[in-house]
Amino acid sequence: MEIIRVPKIMLDTSKTFLLHGKTIGFVPTMGALHDGHLSLVRRAREENSITVVSIFVNPAQFGPNEDFNIYPRDLEGDTEKLIKEKVDILFLPDASSIYPEGYLTYVNVENLSEKLCGAFRHGHFRGVTTIVAKLFNIVKPTRAYFGQKDFQQSVIISKMTYDLNMDIDIVVCPTVRDKDGLAMSSRNSYLDNSQRQAATIIYKCLKETSESIKSGIIEIKNVKNFMLDFLRKEPLISEIDYAGIYDISSLEELSAEKENMLLAIALRIGNTRLIDNMLINIKEERKY
Ligand code: AMP
Repeated sequence: MEIIRVPKIMLDTSKTFLLHGKTIGFVPTMGALHDGHLSLVRRAREENSITVVSIFVNPAQFGPNEDFNIYPRDLEGDTEKLIKEKVDILFLPDASSIYPEGYLTYVNVENLSEKLCGAFRHGHFRGVTTIVAKLFNIVKPTRAYFGQKDFQQSVIISKMTYDLNMDIDIVVCPTVRDKDGLAMSSRNSYLDNSQRQAATIIYKCLKETSESIKSGIIEIKNVKNFMLDFLRKEPLISEIDYAGIYDISSLEELSAEKENMLLAIALRIGNTRLIDNMLINIKEERKY
């Protein structure tokens, strides 16, 4: 595996691959890699001749009171994992090469970036779309891989690529979970044992709600309260940012049934903010 730190070298390397007819699969990450990240890497490897993974903890997507400084970093462990996965290139830029002094340009997908997590993390998605647009320009991927775990992020990035005529396929891969259902996340390492146990309520809530909708036990207009009541049973939850059922494209809250719907939750256990979601397809899955 080659490690490239300089954006211009990454760009020239990608141009050479493309000139030789190669396809480039790209997995952007913030590191502290777990099996969720590696599932994207494996998919990228299967579908492309070259696999590029980036690790960059992007300061522009963290708010002033968020966890940028303590975000888990494990470059040595990450490098080993990526070598094992036979990744071709690890792109590891410095913050100063991505946002040099005098940097002024930001990409923002309006409206969608203010919904759900955007309402609680102001400027977060502007930071995400800016870094992803820059990484796309530097890595020049044929396909880029994102996790359903961050469903809103995948919707916003798909919209950005469409609106800006970027010729890149956005591939969204299923959420990888621990055995007890908790979605893998670099931030799970912040949880102590009792908090880790408490966090299992998120997936339980998604599953129970999804099954209740499919079997007709609850109506769409009652889903939000059903989820809030379910989550409030867990005393270690310190705050619920949102829980409910949403349109999969507009991310608007739903009050009536649609064929495809998104259940989504964001909450805090102690100071740790956790998110998860589940898609429901009524036609495919209705049990009665
Ligand atoms: P991050 O390092 O948290 O920015 O995540 C990098 C990519 O990995 C994003 O596209 C995430 O959606 C994806 N990802 C994170 N956790 C998971 C998971 N448990 N399952 C699948 N994809 C994930």
